[in-house]
Amino acid sequence: MADNARYVIAPPPQAEIAVAGTDKTFPVRRIWCVGRNYIEHIREMGQDERAPPFFFAKPADAIVPDGGTVPYPSLTKDMHHEVELVVALKSGGRNIPVSKANDCIYGYAVGIDLTRRDLQIASRDVKRPWEIGKAFDHSAPCGPLKPAAETGHPTKGKIVLKANGKVRQEGDLNQMIWNIPETISKLSEMVELRAGDVIMTGTPSGVAATVAGDKLECEVEGVGKLTVTIGPPAK
Ligand code: MN
Repeated sequence: MADNARYVIAPPPQAEIAVAGTDKTFPVRRIWCVGRNYIEHIREMGQDERAPPFFFAKPADAIVPDGGTVPYPSLTKDMHHEVELVVALKSGGRNIPVSKANDCIYGYAVGIDLTRRDLQIASRDVKRPWEIGKAFDHSAPCGPLKPAAETGHPTKGKIVLKANGKVRQEGDLNQMIWNIPETISKLSEMVELRAGDVIMTGTPSGVAATVAGDKLECEVEGVGKLTVTIGPPAK
């Protein structure tokens, strides 16, 4: 049978992230995000500094490419930017030891965990899930991936977000509470990780509202850049 003939509708397109300097792309299976992984962001959100970081997810098709436009999402009056180092996996497994975790990494990029903060907090306050605040359409802009073969495995380096040319978020990868191998290892205790999985590794302080017309420019030293524009709401 022809590949698509067994589907009752056309299969949805494969979500993907560009690979820097090539015409190839990285196919995305799942997007996981780490909550509260930089101490200054935990302080600005008024959360417990001693609680371990935790995970939530976004749909794979929330990816927005470098140079893209994010339609201002529905229902919110307080969308925030959270610049994050993105890790893309070329392999996975369950209960991956910290010492083996870097072997699973294809490469790195810079991304934004866009958040409908008002809706996230409303859900949190009534102990409901975070999806409506975190997992909305176009909520995961991600710049081109650089293979770890080129970048190595970064453990320090500036992570910055500018809005309309002004620095809003500035931190260093060395401020992560859980480093990348620890994050991969811990997540692999909760779910089986596989090639195509992507992890957004938490944000430094300085999260703030972003509105239609804003140009967001992000950079992780040694990894790359990402520029996106916030546009008017989708019609
Ligand atoms: Mn985040």
